[in-house]
Amino acid sequence: MESLCIIIPKKDGEKTRQKLIELGAIDKNLKIKPDGENLLIPIIRQVEGYDIGKEDFEILIKDESVVDALGFTPACEIVGDIAIIDQYESDAQQIADVMIRNKKIKTVVQAASAVTGEYRIREFTFLAGEKKTETLYRENGCRYLLDISRVYFTPRLATERMRIADQVKDGDRIVDMFAGVGPFSVLIAKKFPGAQVIAIDKNPDAIKYLRENVRLNKLKNVEIREGDAREEIKGISNADHVIMNLPHSGLEFLEGAFGAIKKGGVIHFYAIAHEDELFEGLLKEIEERARHANVHVILLNNRIVRPYAPYQYNICIDFQVT
Ligand code: SAM
Repeated sequence: MESLCIIIPKKDGEKTRQKLIELGAIDKNLKIKPDGENLLIPIIRQVEGYDIGKEDFEILIKDESVVDALGFTPACEIVGDIAIIDQYESDAQQIADVMIRNKKIKTVVQAASAVTGEYRIREFTFLAGEKKTETLYRENGCRYLLDISRVYFTPRLATERMRIADQVKDGDRIVDMFAGVGPFSVLIAKKFPGAQVIAIDKNPDAIKYLRENVRLNKLKNVEIREGDAREEIKGISNADHVIMNLPHSGLEFLEGAFGAIKKGGVIHFYAIAHEDELFEGLLKEIEERARHANVHVILLNNRIVRPYAPYQYNICIDFQVT
């Protein structure tokens, strides 16, 4: 959500945050975020003597007992029984010591890197509790076993996954080109036992957990393929939906998706886009690639899924292929 914020060099971040708490000006429900060499701290009213801006911020997870004990809402996400404190949260150890008192939290870590590399994974530093990275997470009635240090996963896409599942009909054929541990595939397969889901991923660890999650959720309608989506999608045809959740490089894989989708089928394409040009440039690029593949695309829907970084958004374009 959009909020006024203070723009401050990172080195002054903690001092300023404390000052803003004293002044009662910090917005405790929004997540502080980095912007190059600066930090953007959301505020609820103007404060003199600082550079002020306006930005989109992520809403924070609320845990009243943690908030009461700390006096502020920590920037973190909870995956199963593991609390992951944001990479840029400066009071991480203090937060961890409070969070670990919650009986549902067994481990507290802090992200020590951004999500990087082909497999989209990140590093963590242990702060409190059991030294483990594997957990069982529940979402939309499904169960997922996963290792936060070996596979990509975020609970922040739960609503988006349900939005896609709601567009499927029983009997549909779905290709999930970048399936990870299966949060799209498992949800769809469970909701529609008559659907046929083909789930692809290149990360062997993601495939290991995907297999486990198919078993955990007692699914008989998921075919798992390990390897590069460009190769694994060859030979697949007549898909009603193709899900392309590889936001930094999805365009490179469009040709394969055009080959697999049936006439009238829908591709759900994720990307990271700058706020100045959220959809237009990307749509042109998709149309251009469609022309090369001798197909035609019709835009059904475009939407912001969530803020990703300063001025950047995770977006989704749903388009029909004819
Ligand atoms: N859809 C899952 C989710 O929502 O949690 C995972 C999305 S994650 C952003 C992208 C996934 O694509 C990762 O699991 C990564 O291993 C996989 N990946 C990256 N490059 C790939 C490729 N060339 N072929 C198949 N999978 C790939």
